[in-house]
Parts: sequence; structure tokens; C-alpha cells
Amino acid sequence: FEVEEFRKYGHRMVDFIADYYRDIAEYPVRSQVQPGYLECQLPTAAPEDPESLDDVLADVQSKIIPGVTHWQSPSFFAFYPANFSTAGFLGDMLSGGLNVIGFSWISSPAATELEQIVLDWLGKLLQLPEEFLFSGGGGGVIQGTASEAVCVAMLAARKRAVAKLMAEGASETEAFGRLTGYVSDQTHVSVQKAAQIAGVAANLRVLPTNSSTNFSLSPAALRKAVAEDAANGFLPFFLCGTVGTTSSAAVDPLPELGDIALEYGMWFHVDAAFAGNACICPEVRHNLDGIEKVDSYSMNPHKWLLTNFDCSTLWLKDPRQLVAAMSTSPEYLRNKATDEKLVVDYKDWQLPLGRKFRSLKLWFTMRLYGASGLRKHIREHIRIAEHLESLVRTSDRFEMVAPRNFSLVCFRLKPLENDTDNGRTVNATLLEAINSRGACFLTHTVLDGVFTLRMAIGSSRTELQHVMEAWTIINTEADRLMKH
Ligand code: PLP
Repeated sequence: FEVEEFRKYGHRMVDFIADYYRDIAEYPVRSQVQPGYLECQLPTAAPEDPESLDDVLADVQSKIIPGVTHWQSPSFFAFYPANFSTAGFLGDMLSGGLNVIGFSWISSPAATELEQIVLDWLGKLLQLPEEFLFSGGGGGVIQGTASEAVCVAMLAARKRAVAKLMAEGASETEAFGRLTGYVSDQTHVSVQKAAQIAGVAANLRVLPTNSSTNFSLSPAALRKAVAEDAANGFLPFFLCGTVGTTSSAAVDPLPELGDIALEYGMWFHVDAAFAGNACICPEVRHNLDGIEKVDSYSMNPHKWLLTNFDCSTLWLKDPRQLVAAMSTSPEYLRNKATDEKLVVDYKDWQLPLGRKFRSLKLWFTMRLYGASGLRKHIREHIRIAEHLESLVRTSDRFEMVAPRNFSLVCFRLKPLENDTDNGRTVNATLLEAINSRGACFLTHTVLDGVFTLRMAIGSSRTELQHVMEAWTIINTEADRLMKH
């Protein structure tokens, strides 16, 4: 490693990325390559001798970029967004540059302490109850993804529930078999994966939703399932509610679900991966009403809060329960600060040992935008989504499939009268026609059996004009389809 070479190449790389952003509109938003496209273009083994950066960057441009789907295109409306900002990038760059591994306080005190501070800052912006903050006896941690967040929350819940059953005389194996968890059919599949990892997937109850409740989990259905399980000797131990489901951004009724969780002693986790970010705006915050009844709450600033991937924040009312489930203390990691219980050691709040200095990018973003800048970003996307919703509602051939929540618009081409599969084929064909053009990228879901086009508005540089361009393309392709 040579410092001046680093300086030169670092500048080069920033120039390369800046050019990428300058030219991004020239690339098809969804990569148009076929599976295996890269294998025939690259050698089958690593080079024996060093190559030049020029050669590598030339290959990036000619071979890698064609296989990139451009999540940072302002016309990316697929899945949910993954925000980028100069602030977030700079923080990430610094983290990569320092390259410290802050698993315990002593392994890099600033990495731990800054994380605690920014999690309290963000918790305050969300108006989380004081008990979720370090200043109130709780605390937060940055995980890589919402999947890891729910996994560790479930492991903490399992530890607590298994201890309860074992105290009543059950063996550990018996206890595992008696734990039941609850999600809705709209809950992100990461909870299913967490249950598989935790060894409790066999008794994860998936409760159905439908359009009558706008795809939110019905407290009555939950109560019935929980009561039946409890009567049959199971221990309901975990409930996951969602604020902003993946398919339609539906919001589960946290206050009512929270009451049931409290009554049965279940751990209540809330996954607000995408939509939680919007709750920094006071007019959106009501979606978190009931959060005081929750044990753990997670959301992804890397989705919609201008913080580069990966940054998933998780707050807990009682982090000691998480630490009880995750902590280990081998001799080779022992140190005075830990032994004297003076510090947080984040290795005990997550699955891996090693961890990046992720709080830097969140700190840079919060400082360089300010709360007002972050709110402006969210509000603009919601405003654009409202406009798109009005276009769908006033169009005679499209219809909304679910209410617009936050900045997600779920719609479809109305099926014709003689349609035999309720619009599935025509909408799937339309979607492929739109995405093949490369000018924008949307994805789909199925809601109550209805094939639905999703337009998630939240990419960092999306403005009204990009949505209007996409709407024109959608209509042009619909015209073409209807003519055939
Ligand atoms: N939860 C919800 C509601 C999501 O929409 C998603 C992904 O879009 C996830 C969880 C999973 O996110 P991650 O990739 O951070 O695990």
C-alpha cells in the first residue's frame, strides 16, 4: 500500500463514479443481459501478474456496467429503493478507508460510541419512546439488513420463552416444539427465514389478509390463533407487525396487536424497513402509534433515508435480553472496559463478530442534510406518489389495486370482460414490455390473487418528471398491447 498511489487512484475512482452518475440515463435501468453473460468475457483464473487500474476500469465499463441494474437511476421504481447520497457515500468511504472492525468498544471506541449517539438522534427524530434510547435505558444498533434485525430479535425472544418453559420443567427440545410465532401473509419472508434459523419454523402461523383490511393483519384473527394455540399447550412467543409491507406498504394496527402481545407475553417486533423512514415527518408519524407496546423496532435508512447500503437500524426496549441471547466472552476478547461493564460491545447485539463503522454514513447524512433536508426528501416522494395515484384513478383503463401508502402506488390495467385469468397475462406482458425498453424499471406483486404493478417512488434522484416519463411509457405500451 502506497499513500500517494492511493490518493491518485482514489481521485480516479471518484471521477469514474461521478461520470457514471452523469451518464446514468444512457443505460437501461434494468440490465438487459442474459444469464451467464459474464463468464464468456472474463478469464477463468486470476492473473498471475499485476494488471493496471486502467485495464480494470476499462473492463468495468465494457463488461460489468452492462450487467448492472441501475438502482440509482431516477427511473428505478422496482422493489423498494436503495438510497444513495454524497453524504452517505462519503461516510461509507471513510468507513472503508479507516477499515476498523468495531466489534467491542475497545476494538475501536469511536465506532461504538458514535453508533450509540446516532441511534439516539434518529430515535428522537422518529419520536420513539424514551425507553428505546440509550438515554432512556434501551438502545439501538445498526445491522446490515432488516433480515438480520428480525433474526436477532427472534433469537432474543426465543431465549426468553425457552427459559420460561424450562423453568416450568420442560426440556429444551420440548420447549422449542411448543413455541409459536405469528406473522401475516404480507410479512416479509425474512421472518420465515429467521424462524428457520431459530429452529421454530414449524410453528410459525401465517395469518391471511385481504383487501377488506387493506392487507393489514387483523387483530381478531391474531387473537383467535393465539388463544387456540395457548389452549393447545403452545407458548405464543413472537409476533411480527409491519409498517409498510413489501407488496403494498400496508400498515398493521400496532396498538391492538400490541395489546394481544402484552396479554400473552409475546415479543412484539415491528418491521418498518421502508416506510419507517417516513415517520420522521410529523404528519406521517401516526403510523407508529402503538410503538410503546413494541419490544423491538427496525427500519432501513439505506432504503429511503439517503444513507448508502447497508444500514438497518434496530432499537430495543431491553437490549439486555438480546445480549443474553447473543453474548459470548472468549479469553482472547476480554478487556478491562468490558469486564467492568462500562461499555456496549456490539458483537453481542448481532450475528457476526466483525462489523463495519456504519454509523459514520448515518452521521454524515444526518449532519449534511439536517432533519429538515431528510424530511424534504421523503415529502417530495410522497407528493409525487399522490400525483401518480390521481393519474391512475382518473384513467379509464388503469385502476388502483390497493390504497396508496407512503410513496408506493399499486395499480393494474383493468382486465377486459372476456379476460380468462383476471388480468394476469395482460399485466405481466405489459410489465415486460415496459421493462424491456430500459427507460424505467417496475416490479410486480400479487394482492388477493390480483397481478399488480408496483411503482415504488423513493430513489434519491427521482423527480416528478421521471414519474411522468414512466407514465407515458406505461400508457404507450398499454396502447400497443390493446391493439393486438
Ligand atoms: N421488510 C420489509 C417490509 C421489506 O420490504 C424488506 C425488503 O424490501 C425487508 C424486510 C428485507 O430487507 P433487507 O434486505 O434489509 O433484509
